Amino acid sequence: MPEGHSVHRVALQFQRDFVGHAISASSPQGRFAEGASVLDGLTLREAKAVGKQMFLGFDTVSVVGTAVRRVDSGVWLRVHLGIYGAWDFAGAVSPLFSRARAGVNGGAHSVGAPRGVGARSDVLSATEGQRRNVRVSEDERDLGVSLDETFPHEPVGAVRVRLLTESTVADLRGPTACEVLDVAAVQLVLNRLGPDPVTDLGPEAEQRFVDAVTRRKVAIGQLLMDQSIVAGIGNVYRAEILFRAQLSPYTPGNLVPVDTVRALWHDWCVLLPIGIRKGKMLTRLGEDAPVRDIRAERYWTYKREGLPCRRCGSNIRLDVMGARKLYWCPGCQT
Ligand SMILES: [Zn+2]
Repeated sequence: MPEGHSVHRVALQFQRDFVGHAISASSPQGRFAEGASVLDGLTLREAKAVGKQMFLGFDTVSVVGTAVRRVDSGVWLRVHLGIYGAWDFAGAVSPLFSRARAGVNGGAHSVGAPRGVGARSDVLSATEGQRRNVRVSEDERDLGVSLDETFPHEPVGAVRVRLLTESTVADLRGPTACEVLDVAAVQLVLNRLGPDPVTDLGPEAEQRFVDAVTRRKVAIGQLLMDQSIVAGIGNVYRAEILFRAQLSPYTPGNLVPVDTVRALWHDWCVLLPIGIRKGKMLTRLGEDAPVRDIRAERYWTYKREGLPCRRCGSNIRLDVMGARKLYWCPGCQT
């Protein structure tokens, strides 16, 4: 399941290539035909992610008598990718973080920098707006579609919704949620979500997290996965953040020292932006990790069950908590 960093990257891609454009919306698969007909022809005003959900705000036009009034972000598309969902971008797909824009070197910051093909992605991200084909899901990758293919290409497979500008196309497949909402309904969804470090800055967000954790007797390993406590953390970040804090996933929230709860929030505030910039969950290697395939070295505990802990040598354990796999080190996380 894509974690928060991936969804933020999708929202950024829409900000780069779709906001300000009139959007042709369709549902090649047919299951979203009604929703697509509402959005078709509207101009995209804003794109934002909160936790694992993305919200696209479209301008609407209301006509009362002879008066025509434009309503900024009057209608929204809400998408939750769930376990199988993915966005594919094709055509002119801008790098998310160009060298000039982000002040960083290398080509690793574009949304299209897949593992193992660093040399090629360096070339592709060297020119902004070059035609590229990119999938944003759990692990971003090049779709392997020919770059000089006609635009837009025919939809392939079960595309729930296709959003199209004159130069960029985005196809959504397999989402858990894809629906058109009004402003009030979006607010109801947002009210149920815990803080996200990208959208909820400042001490209030931290305090919301601290209060939510410390008044619960539920294991901290479960609380971190609860999107109403903190938004955007999934299985990978859960395991890695708890290891970095040297905290047992079984500690009830109300027994975690407040300083440790604050440290968990601060760590998420550090790790999420790195994931957004790099398109990878670099919980062990940090932001300066090389572009090449680093999968074997990437994590402290995630998917390392039975292997010796990189820090203490104990065997990493795999348990099931809340029907999800939980990776942790019984030596370090006592
Ligand atoms: Zn250990």
